[in-house]
Amino acid sequence: MKAGAVTPGQKNSARLVEMEAPVISSGQALVKLLELGIDGTDMEINGGDYGEAPPDEDFLVLGHEAIGQIENPGKTKLSKGDFVVPLVRRPDGCVNCHSGKPDMCIEGNYRERGIRGVHGFLREYLAEDSSFLVKVPSELRGVAVLTEPTSIATKGIEQAIEFHNRSANPINITVVLGAGPLGLLSTALLRLQDFNTYVLDIVPRSSPKVHLIEAIGATYLDGRESTVTALPQKLGNLDLIVEATGNSTVAFQAISALGVNGILCLMGVSTGGKPLEICADCLNMQMVLGNKVVFGTVSSNRGHFERSVQALANMEQKWPGWLSRLITRRLTLGKFKDAFDPAPDNIKTVIELT
Ligand code: BGC
Ligand code: ZN
Repeated sequence: MKAGAVTPGQKNSARLVEMEAPVISSGQALVKLLELGIDGTDMEINGGDYGEAPPDEDFLVLGHEAIGQIENPGKTKLSKGDFVVPLVRRPDGCVNCHSGKPDMCIEGNYRERGIRGVHGFLREYLAEDSSFLVKVPSELRGVAVLTEPTSIATKGIEQAIEFHNRSANPINITVVLGAGPLGLLSTALLRLQDFNTYVLDIVPRSSPKVHLIEAIGATYLDGRESTVTALPQKLGNLDLIVEATGNSTVAFQAISALGVNGILCLMGVSTGGKPLEICADCLNMQMVLGNKVVFGTVSSNRGHFERSVQALANMEQKWPGWLSRLITRRLTLGKFKDAFDPAPDNIKTVIELT
């Protein structure tokens, strides 16, 4: 079978490879993969900045956002024809991994499909333990490729709300920094809960991103007109901020912009090593006197995936067709390398695997 792979550490090494089709062992089901989403992590891996091949192999099959269909359920409880989304992280033996929370792994010996030490989903077939497969209803077949990024946003937003619950004042103003797929899915999760949501990016008002933001009742703010630090003057007390640009300068500005009792959730990874001069005293004082919480979040577990499937169903019902408008570029497996070329106004690239 064909697969899309890279040599980790080597820039622009994305290429097609031939692999043996997998054979299922006990507890596993054979999945025919249907669609695969490309994200910033895949860009970084193909950029040579991230990623790790499986032990004793010199290539890594890419891909960690997928939907597939059960071709052979083996002895699992799944049925032929079921649609499934695979989990990304594979546990080590630590206490969190052991309790179904590999996203909170403490030992750091976890592996991640398509990212770290184990092949991903950019291929035709997958043999997978059913404990790593989440069933999705057939109505969601067209959008379930977005389950994995939604699960990342779900984890961050659930925790942010939990932190905010320590104070009696309700969450009023929420801000999302960055209107990429993660920012837009975070916006939709916040809007499902009817929060006032503002989304900051640096695209013109004619951009499809702005239409998507407005279509779900959020407000677009042009970051070239108002900086992050100026947001409180404009909007009032910022209760919850989701940082989804991965720009560390923006992340530090967000700490200052955060309101009293506010929660800042950092979801964007920055790999550059860029230094920044900050007023450390000011930030420390603002955080202490403002009861502010700043936290990072990575990966997601089965519960987050399951609640994301439900959230996608709710979004489909509330805003029919909105989710599929996030998928702005579709490529065949043979052309998957084009996913690493910039395309104007592109939001999410999906590779068709059938
Ligand atoms: C993936 C996560 C993963 C993280 C770090 C993200 O793109 O969605 O599942 O934990 O990268 O490798
Ligand atoms: Zn662990």
